[in-house]
Amino acid sequence: MAALRLEIVTPDQVVLSTDVDYVGAPGVDGEFGVLAGHIPLLTALSIGILVYRIGNKDYTAFIAGGFAEVADNKVSILAQAAELSENIDVERAEKAKARAEERLQLAKQQDGIDVVRAENAMKRALTRLRAAGK
Ligand code: ATP
Repeated sequence: MAALRLEIVTPDQVVLSTDVDYVGAPGVDGEFGVLAGHIPLLTALSIGILVYRIGNKDYTAFIAGGFAEVADNKVSILAQAAELSENIDVERAEKAKARAEERLQLAKQQDGIDVVRAENAMKRALTRLRAAGK
């Protein structure tokens, strides 16, 4: 029986609230895994893919940074943006990728382009596409 609760919350909504058996999350210092009985933990998250297991089935979600807290058999993910993989709009992510590519190209010949911002947009787009299996 599942003994771990997973909640994924963004500023807009509760993306997921469910009992799980395992969570794997993209921490800024690398991936980390949580099973029931994990010690308390607070860490920042990077742009990446969160995996959660229910029974013997794995599910994934896109996470765009934020924080994770583990306490009392509950994993709370407070993300800037998050989507379950099946809810990712692939066309939107393709367009975001194309825009980021354009900006990064432009930055080579023009000042005033925020390269870090474009790189982060690119990372979000590529990770969304990966989470959606594209
Ligand atoms: P875009 O340029 O398409 O807005 P973005 O990476 O700048 O992409 P975010 O700032 O990460 O977007 O997210 C803004 C909101 O839009 C969030 O609520 C996020 O969940 C949602 N969102 C962004 N891209 C997608 C997508 N491809 N599929 C589903 N939801 C998305």
